[in-house]
Formats: sequence, structure tokens, C-alpha cells
Amino acid sequence: MREHALTSILDTPVEYVKGVGPAKADLLKKELGIYTFEDLLTHYPFRYVDRTRFYKIREISEDLPYVQIRGVLDHLEIAGQKKGKRLVASLRDETGSVELLWFQGQQWMAERLKTGTEYVVFGKASMFNGRMNFAHPDIDPVTPEFLKQQSVFEGVYSSTEKLKYKGLGSDGLRKLQRHLLQQLSQASIEESLGPELMEQHKLLSKMDAFSHIHFPESEGMLEKARFRIKFEELFFIQLRLLRLKSFRVQHTKGFLFSKVGEQFNSFFHHHLPFALTGAQKKVIKEIHHDLKSGKQMNRLLQGDVGSGKTLVALMSMLLAIDNGYQACLMAPTEILARQHFATFRELLKGIALETVVLTGSTKTKERTSILKGLNDGSINIVIGTHALLEDKVKFSNLGLAVIDEQHRFGVEQRARLQAKNSQAPHMLIMTATPIPRTLAMTFYGDLDTSIIDEMPPGRKPIQTHHYTESARLKVIGFLKQQIALGRQVYIVYPLIQESEKMDYQNLQMGYDQLVQDFPAPTYRVSIVHGKLSNEQKEQEMNRFITGETQLMVATTVIEVGVNIPNASVMVIESAERFGLSQLHQLRGRVGRGAEQSYCILMTGYKLSAESKQRMQTMVKTNDGFEISEVDLKLRGPGDIEGTAQSGVLNLKLADLAKDGQLLQLARWAAAGLIERDAELNKQENKVYITEMQRQDKNRTNWSRIA
Ligand code: ADP
Ligand code: MG
Repeated sequence: MREHALTSILDTPVEYVKGVGPAKADLLKKELGIYTFEDLLTHYPFRYVDRTRFYKIREISEDLPYVQIRGVLDHLEIAGQKKGKRLVASLRDETGSVELLWFQGQQWMAERLKTGTEYVVFGKASMFNGRMNFAHPDIDPVTPEFLKQQSVFEGVYSSTEKLKYKGLGSDGLRKLQRHLLQQLSQASIEESLGPELMEQHKLLSKMDAFSHIHFPESEGMLEKARFRIKFEELFFIQLRLLRLKSFRVQHTKGFLFSKVGEQFNSFFHHHLPFALTGAQKKVIKEIHHDLKSGKQMNRLLQGDVGSGKTLVALMSMLLAIDNGYQACLMAPTEILARQHFATFRELLKGIALETVVLTGSTKTKERTSILKGLNDGSINIVIGTHALLEDKVKFSNLGLAVIDEQHRFGVEQRARLQAKNSQAPHMLIMTATPIPRTLAMTFYGDLDTSIIDEMPPGRKPIQTHHYTESARLKVIGFLKQQIALGRQVYIVYPLIQESEKMDYQNLQMGYDQLVQDFPAPTYRVSIVHGKLSNEQKEQEMNRFITGETQLMVATTVIEVGVNIPNASVMVIESAERFGLSQLHQLRGRVGRGAEQSYCILMTGYKLSAESKQRMQTMVKTNDGFEISEVDLKLRGPGDIEGTAQSGVLNLKLADLAKDGQLLQLARWAAAGLIERDAELNKQENKVYITEMQRQDKNRTNWSRIA
């Protein structure tokens, strides 16, 4: 019975489409991951050709995409010999004439064309021998039937060489879509959205949407089809997230942190080295409100680099301790975990708390004692890397887990940390740099959000400059000036995995050159990269921290979180090889002290348009929220770190870089639905459950990894 309810005609294997035998079906699976009717239907055109528009010959240029013209054939001949043999025709309208060329099948084509006849020609124009021409265009005589059967916008489909070879190029695929839609129009496909939403948002039916996305009757209908399909894609993601959240709120009990006690108060009144910013206060209030609500907190904390998230984490952790619980903080790298540990120790000086750090390189003896202390409750705070996730790590009573997320932990790791206690601890997730609103709503859409939108006072905005190699001497002079003022300098080299060996060579060469440009004993240079042992790394970092060295050559190991206020210049070599968020993150290593800080982006002379825009954005603004939006627009969500596993890539039509408003609409729709019927029990809402179950079943049924 249940099985039956979950099966839709859309789940029918693709071999049942007219014109697809077992062999073609096999190829469709292998080449495009198309297994079912639905997979084929959701293989949407990636663009459309406007078949309503006829260009005048005078208007044609090489810059235009495929165009359509209409004219009379006024010349036809086979020219050239052997390999140079070609069919040359000329088509004329009232504005001029163009050449049509065929290098293959000349004879066959020549027999079918007649001078003096009117034709519609469709193709891409290019210049050849000083004349505008079309090579191998589509050409059809103008007959009433031809004009009638033309769809207005014609979909163009992505395909592969193998499929093209079997007749399933764009045209072949379009034919299959036509067949399938005809088959479906007799069967009727189930609606996956309820009547209320359909009515409220004036959505096309599912069937109509599929029809018009493949064969739009007009531009308006194409827009409507797109709207319905994108809405549905975004809506179900939001519905799942909000259901997860609603389920959690109703069924997960949260530890009740009812009091603000001694540790928090003592820290707040006697140990806080500076006044909290308004934004920090606001955020701590939001967190506190959750912690004393009796519900489990799941909160995302967004704030720009240097906005003071660590302090917020620390104070939240003190609330846990005041209520008799332990707290942990998980960071993505060893360096960062140790840095947090040092910060905590400094801030908590004079407060009687047991704070430890646990990473992959913690020695056995120390590890044993830490594990014991966590288990018996004698340790209050543990800071660590993913080493915290290991099974051996058992807490006596973990009340709050903070994740310094830096885009690097997946949902799964979050869940594992949460499972450390029989009753789920409160969760606070911090991002390294702001992430765009649409991504936050999608990756963290089941969480509540707090935003620190204010920087600690007295910060001078970092000045950012972009230079090419020809300015190298000038840059060296500037660095010497800064060092003479007592400042320190980072010089960062890219280290990108595929070309690791070469990158290390570049790093080494850069270092050797630098030692010559900045000779000892006046100058001293540290170097830190991933191939050093932890002791070596720490030793080099310490030499820099204590001021023994003035320059630090490094790879992106210093990208996250490191805090050395006296370092006021960040030079980024081959800056064009870094993404925007990484550049912003790196820049955030400076500007932490009272001095004016600088970021210098060194690039090659020739830059792609996109690289240029990245550099310009960095020079123009220090605002991480703004930068994250530009980043999304430039790269698209697929390339943003951490998106790969998140399922956001399953979006076929909706685009998180462009469809922000639609996403908001979909979220409101999902929220409204859950508000009215949290369990989706009402008869008219069963359709949503059915659709989600069907989606899940399909996801597990087909092993789609070829
Ligand atoms: P991030 O949000 O990037 O993690 P941090 O927590 O590392 O930022 O804070 C950056 C720097 O700002 C640290 O040196 C920290 O001590 C300092 N800081 C944090 N809050 C304040 C404040 N309210 N006033 C002044 N300085 C602050
Ligand atoms: Mg931080």
C-alpha cells in the first residue's frame, strides 16, 4: 500500500519513453545520470533560441549567438577541388546578402536547394575571406507548415559526444522531451504542491511547467514555468530544514541554564579587558535567551573577521559552567585550536577553571589525563580540533559545544559533536567570514542566526593596494619603512594541492629572494608551512610573536584565526590564485592593533576579468558581508567551499546567486505551512509528505554514481 503511494509515473524508467530503447537508456544513465522520466524532464534546456525573431542580414555580426534570417537563394555553385571542394550559396534579403557554406555533403545539399526560392536559415555567423557567412546552417524552405510547427523558443540541451553519436544531441534530446510530454499528457502527473500554495503564488501546474520549460509558447509562459520549478526546488529544501527545526524544538529537551553565576559575573566585572561592543552585547543576550529557555539552542553566529566572536564564545561557555556543565570549542586547525587555548588562558587568568587543549598531536600521557578529566568532570573547558570527535572522548556532562566553523566542518561532524552527550548539548556555530544570506538560509536554514555587525572601536580600516611585479622594489621599500617603525609583516604564498610541488618551490624561491632583499642581521625572516612538524611550526610562530623575526613567510596555514596585533602588513603573493573569501580572511590577520595596517596584493600583469574584479573588490571594501555577496556572484554557489556535500548542488534551475528573493518567498511559504500544520497531518498537506518520501526513495533507490 505504502509502496504504491510513493510511486509516481515520474519514477518510470527512462526506457519507457518512446524512442528510447535499452541501449539508449543505458547511455542516458551513464552519460547524463538520467534514469527516470523525472530525470529526463529535469534535464532542462540551458538556453533558448528565439525562433520568432528574424534578423535582417545587415544586422548580423560575429558577436551574435545563433540567429535566424529569411531570404531568397540567389546563387548556388560547387567550388574548389578535392579537399577544398565546397558548396557556396548566397542568400539575399532587402538589406543585403550572406554566403552559406557546406564543406561536407555538398552534392546532397546542392540537389535539395533551388535558387529563386525563399528559405529560413538558422546558424552562427562568422567572417571568412572577408565575407559574412554561415557554415553548415539549418536551412528550410518557407512553407506555411514550416512556420506553424516552429516552437517559439527552442530549448538547447547539453549533451555529450557519445550521445550525439547515437543521435541524442540537443535536437535528439528535444525530440525525446516531446515524446515524453505527449505520453504524460495522457497519464496526468501528480501535483507536488498543495492547492493553497498554488493559488497563493499563482503557480502553473506541474504538467504545464514541464511543458513550457521545454516548449515555451511565449516568453511569459517560459518565465512562469521557471518560477514554478525554481519555487518548488527551493521550497522543499526550506520545508525540510524548517521541519527539522520544528521537530527539534518540540522533541529535543535542552539543558536549562537558569542562572548567571559566579564565573560569568566575575569575568564580566573584573577580567574583561575592554568594553563589549553593542553588537557583542546583543548577541550574548540572544544566546542567553536560548540557554535559559529550556529548549536546545542551535545558533549560527556570523561576524566579520576580527569582530570579536571568540569573546562571545567564551562568555557563553562560562554560562554553561555556572550551571554545572562542561563546554567545548572545536576549531578546524591545530594552530587555531592552540591559539584559542592561549587566548582563553590569558582571558581566564585568575579564574579557577580547568581549561585544556586536545589535538591530534597531544602526547599520549597528556591525552590520557585529559580523557580522564573530561570523563570525570574535573575539566571545565576543552578546546580542540576534530580530535574531539573521537569515540574515546567522553564527557561527564557537556552542556555547550561551540564550533569555530570556518566553512570546514560538514553537517555530519556537527551531528557527531552533538551526539557526545545522551542529551544534546546547546550548539553555537561560528563562521570565519560572513557568508551570503542565501547560502546561510540554505546551509544553516535550520538554525537561528545572530549577527555581529559592528567592529570593536578604534580600528583603522585596512588600506589595500594591488601591485604587479614592476612595483616590487617600491613594495620592498615600503616594507622596510614599516619594519623601521617596529611593525611586522606577513608574506603569504598560495599552496594549492594539485600543484603542490611547484607551490613549495615557489615558496622556497620567494623565501630565498626575500632573505637577500632583507639581509641579516638587520632583518630576520620566519617561514611556516604545512610540511614542518608541529614543534617547528610552533617555534617559528613564537619567534614571530616575540618579535625576534620581523617577516613571516607562510602558506595559508596562517589563514584562519591567528592573532598577532603587531603584524600590520599582509603581502599576498600570486593573489589572483586565491578566492575572495580567502583573501578577506588573510587580510583579517592584520588590522588587529592600533596601528594603520596594510594589505598588498601582488599579481601577474595579465589578469582574467574575474581576477581583476576580485582585486578591485578587495581594494574597494573591507566589509566581509559585501565581499561574500560578490564572491557568490562571481563564482556561483557550486564553487564555494563546503557546498559540495550540502545538497545545494542538486538545484537544477534555481541559483542561489540570483534567486535571493524567490528563496525568501519559498522560505516564507514553508514557514507558513509549518505554522499552520507542523506535522503536515491535514489531508490537503499530505501531498508534501508524499513528495518528500518520494524524493528520499529515489535518492536511495538508484545508485547514481556511475
Ligand atoms: P573573530 O571574530 O575574527 O574571531 P576575534 O574574536 O579573534 O575575532 O577578535 C579579534 C580581536 O579583537 C581580538 O584581539 C580581540 O581581543 C579583540 N576584541 C574583541 N572584542 C573586543 C572589544 N569589544 N573591544 C576591543 N577589542 C575587542
Ligand atoms: Mg575567530
